Amino acid sequence: SQNQNYQITAWCQRMMREHIHEGSLCIDATMGNGNDTQFLCTQAGRNGSVLAFDIQPAALEHTKERLAHALPYCNYQLILDSHERLDAYAAPESADCIAFNLGYLPGGDHTLATKPGSTLTALEKSLSLLKKDGLLCICIYSGGDTGFAERDAVLSWLQTLDSRKYLVLLTQYYNRPNNPPIPAFVIRL
Ligand code: SAM
Repeated sequence: SQNQNYQITAWCQRMMREHIHEGSLCIDATMGNGNDTQFLCTQAGRNGSVLAFDIQPAALEHTKERLAHALPYCNYQLILDSHERLDAYAAPESADCIAFNLGYLPGGDHTLATKPGSTLTALEKSLSLLKKDGLLCICIYSGGDTGFAERDAVLSWLQTLDSRKYLVLLTQYYNRPNNPPIPAFVIRL
């Protein structure tokens, strides 16, 4: 079994921790059951704020309950809306960290997975919301019923980013079979 510390969410959280401080504004673009939302809320602290998006009402219900138990404060807003509209909720250059966990919710409805078109719109808008030195963290999944279209679209998009403005890092589980997930990071320079 794989060491928990090297699973994709742990790996991404390790990177995100470096970019979040007490008082940060963070965005979880794909709330799901709220694992990353809880992490962002904890890192941003009582004086920070977290905006979390999902299109499934069940995601908001699960996350609301989870956070109420986990946190002694409420520094979050759970938003039932597509991440394509995240720029309607946050000012330009205001976020220290924006997280995307693509694909479908395990145990949930696979047809409600993220889709290439809306994901790219949301990623593009995310760039304009990042502060200098802010981090955009993307967990990319492929294979199975997710297919490869979204992975390929995101990887192509990452390659187009201006290297004078953004640092793009990809991590690979290089010796792992069966289309392992790809943690990708964009830092606004
Ligand atoms: N990080 C989450 C967690 O801790 O449980 C898991 C996220 S799951 C892989 C992807 C989520 O993205 C699903 O809950 C799905 O409903 C959501 N989603 C799909 N399309 C979306 C969209 N356009 N805007 C916001 N969320 C979307």
